[in-house]
Parts: sequence; C-alpha cells; structure tokens
Amino acid sequence: MEKYKATIGLEIHAELKTKTKMFCDSKNDPDETKPNVNICPVCMAHPGTLPAINKTAVKSVLKVGLALNGNLADFTEFDRKNYFYPDIPKGYQISQYKYPLVSGGELNGVKITRVHLEEDTARSSHDTAGHSLVDYNRAGIPLMELVTEPVVENAQQARDFAKELQLLLRYLGVAEANMEKGEMRIEANISVSDTENFGTKVEVKNLNSFKVVEKAIEYEIKRQIEAIENGEKIIQETRGWDENGQKTFSQRMKEGSADYRYFPDPDLPKLKISEIPEFSKENLKKEISELPKEKRERYTKDYGIKSEDLEMYVTDSEFGNFFEGVAKELKGDRDLIKLASNYITSDVVGLKKDSSVIGFGKIEISTFAELIKMVGEGKISSRGTKDILKIMFIEGGAPNEIAEKNNLLQKSDEGELEKIVLKIIENNKTVADEFRSGKESSLQFLIGQGMKETKGSANPKILTGLFKKNLK
Ligand code: ADP
Ligand code: MG
Repeated sequence: MEKYKATIGLEIHAELKTKTKMFCDSKNDPDETKPNVNICPVCMAHPGTLPAINKTAVKSVLKVGLALNGNLADFTEFDRKNYFYPDIPKGYQISQYKYPLVSGGELNGVKITRVHLEEDTARSSHDTAGHSLVDYNRAGIPLMELVTEPVVENAQQARDFAKELQLLLRYLGVAEANMEKGEMRIEANISVSDTENFGTKVEVKNLNSFKVVEKAIEYEIKRQIEAIENGEKIIQETRGWDENGQKTFSQRMKEGSADYRYFPDPDLPKLKISEIPEFSKENLKKEISELPKEKRERYTKDYGIKSEDLEMYVTDSEFGNFFEGVAKELKGDRDLIKLASNYITSDVVGLKKDSSVIGFGKIEISTFAELIKMVGEGKISSRGTKDILKIMFIEGGAPNEIAEKNNLLQKSDEGELEKIVLKIIENNKTVADEFRSGKESSLQFLIGQGMKETKGSANPKILTGLFKKNLK
C-alpha cells in the first residue's frame, strides 16, 4: 500500500453572513424555514432586472484573503457560468473565473490557489411521490469558494484544514460555516499514484460533516489503490458519499470547464479595488481582530499552558474568555495560571458536562481566581478545591467563606500542628524509631496519623516538615 501516494485538493464553499443577498436586497437568512419568502424579481431572474454587487460580501472575501496572506486582486470582475438546472433561475450562476478576488495564500501549511465570490443556488428537494421542489430562499446568497492546491496528503490533514478554515471564518465574523446547516460545504479531489506524476483525480461531493470528509477520503484512497492493483483505470468522475453504505458512489462524469461557457457578466461593473477606499488593506485590517494563529502564539508566549488546553480556548470562545479573564486576575503569575488552566479543563469542564447549567454556573472569574490563589498558597487541598468548586458552581459565593464554612481550610498554623505531631510521635514510639533507623515508609504512617487527627485539614507539606524536624 505504501508505494502509492495520495494527493488531495479541496474546494470549500461557505455562505457569507451578510444582511442581504449577493446581487439584490432580498434577505440572507439561512434560518428561514418557510420556503420562497426571501426572494425578489432580481434573484428570481425576472426579465429586465439588474444585479448590484453586495459590498460587504466583497469585503468579507478580501478579509479572508488578508488572513490567509494571499494576494488581493486589484482588478476583478464577475462571470456568468452557464448551465441549466431548476436551482439556477437565470440559467447561469454569477461567479468569478479569470479574476478571483484572492490568489495564493496559506492556511495550516496548505497552499491556497484562489478564493472567489459567487452566488449560492436554490435548494432543491425530491419527495417520494416523484416531485421535485425548489426553495429559492438560498438562491443568490453570497457564497465564497476557496480552492487549495493539490498538496494535502491524507484524510486527517484535509479534516484539520477544513476545521481551521471554519474557525478562521468565525473569527473574522464573515461566516458561521456550520456544516450541518449546509453553510459550509466541502468537495475533495483525490488521486493516487505510484509514480512521480499525478494520478487521475476523482471529485467527491456533498461531504456534510468533518467526519464524513475524513471517512470519504480514506475510503476513496483505498478504492483507487485497489482498482489500480486490479488493473482498472481510474476515470475522472464526480462521486457522492453514501452514509448508509459508508462508501463513495459514482454520480456523473465530470464536465470540463469549457462546458460552462464562462464570460464576463455585462450587467455588473468591473471593480478596481484600489479605487474603492473601503477595500484598502488599512481599512480591512482595522476590522480584523485577533486571528486563531495569533491567539495561539500569544497564549504560548504569555501563559505557557499545555497545547490541548490552548486549543480548547482558541476553539471555544466561552472557555477562552473565561480563561483569559482568570489569567488577567492572576496578574501574569505563570504557575498560578497553569494551575487555573488545569482546574478549568478538568474540573470546570466536568461540572458543566454533568449539569444543564449554561455558562459557568455561579462561578465568577474573580471568585475562581481567588480560589486558585488559595490553592497556590496551600490553604486548601486539591480534594478540598474540588468540593469548593462544586459549591461555587451551584450556589456561588466566595471560596474562602465556603472553605471556612465547610471546614476545608488546611491547618497551616505550625504551633498548633507541632503539638499534634509531638503527641503522635509520643504515642508511636516504635514506628518513630523504625523511621530513625532508615525505614522511609514509617514516615508515611505517621503523616497518615496526623491527617487522621486533623480530619484531613492539615497542610501536608507543613505536616511532613514538622515530622521530619521532630524525628531527628
Ligand atoms: P478542474 O478544472 O477539474 O475543476 P482544477 O485544476 O480547477 O480542476 O482543480 C480543482 C481541485 O482539484 C483543486 O483543489 C486542485 O488542487 C485539485 N486537484 C487538481 N489535480 C489534482 C490531482 N491530480 N489530485 C488531486 N487533486 C487535484
Ligand atoms: Mg476548477
């Protein structure tokens, strides 16, 4: 199997989050459930209507281009991609062909070919009685298409790339990109080869979850290798994913691009980006806040937390904001921040999982930071911390008060603890002698007695120190 190398190139569509459609004022509402309400003569292709370019959509793609470190076009135009299907009322889709808004760029180490802007098609559905239904609410929604170079090497890398793109689109605020809602749709081009040349590529469409992206690519690589091994020829075709059968299946032979008879749309102005102040890089940058990559770098530099923790904060803004708030309260103390992160990713995550409470229950950033400071000062044990957190989550309150009320403060009063230590040594003379003659485990026994005597409230560090001192 290893003699074959797989090559994957991705084509990813994402619906942009704008108020109105790409070329008209109809509402862009992906949550509208009533069919054919967000439509108008323009997106229904009535004769005599004229499209107008949605500026926010253009801006969104330019922002994506900047974030990917791609080249933003100075000259751009829209083209007609001609084909006939009921989901495309005009008989053509307005897209970009020769002059995409963005060329080049990189994400997660994957080279980007281009990012262009087009309009979405209507949603068709086919009922069991043999009728086809079309909902034009989606027709004309701004759609971004990103194409990668054929440089992805395996299914996992393809999945990681798609997830990172989704995260980036969300950070930029240009798309929600929920795959289960069809707001982001992935096509994978896959070929395998045992020579230096590319093999024939097969396009797999309708991959509607990250998991399916991974499974379909894995399946397709295996299928193609087996076919070649059996002396079959791979044909360039479009395949779909069969969820029940967990396999890809042939849908149609691929049309060449010439079939679409692309040509510049004469109804739309060509754009000279540098002549539109709103689209200047300076202006775009102002509207871009911290990107996932920058956040990762900052967290690594400022906090030095584990990479799994970091990933959780970068992908889950609720946890990210909570962690950052706590880190601020802890004033850059790295040890305490790491400690806080451990309690957030284990205990707080656990508390949330076990309850239907939204947010962090009644835990506040300030009370949580207080709690972490108490742990750092050895005022409470890790067992006690877990109990206090639970109470904070459900009832709220200040950790020192909760600790006091529930007898969870560790005894750190050396004078008081020393009296107990001396008493225990007195009552366990043989064990004490055993320790003095070198039996290490005897010390553990004595500490255990100390814990028992103080009902677990003694600070173990201080207790151990006192035993060692008094056994000399
Ligand atoms: P087409 O003209 O058939 O649409 P493109 O050259 O535009 O093909 O490429 C479409 C996608 O297919 C891109 O993501 C590209 O990286 C990918 N691709 C091209 N050649 C191959 C190949 N041999 N194997 C896998 N993917 C490929
Ligand atoms: Mg192409």
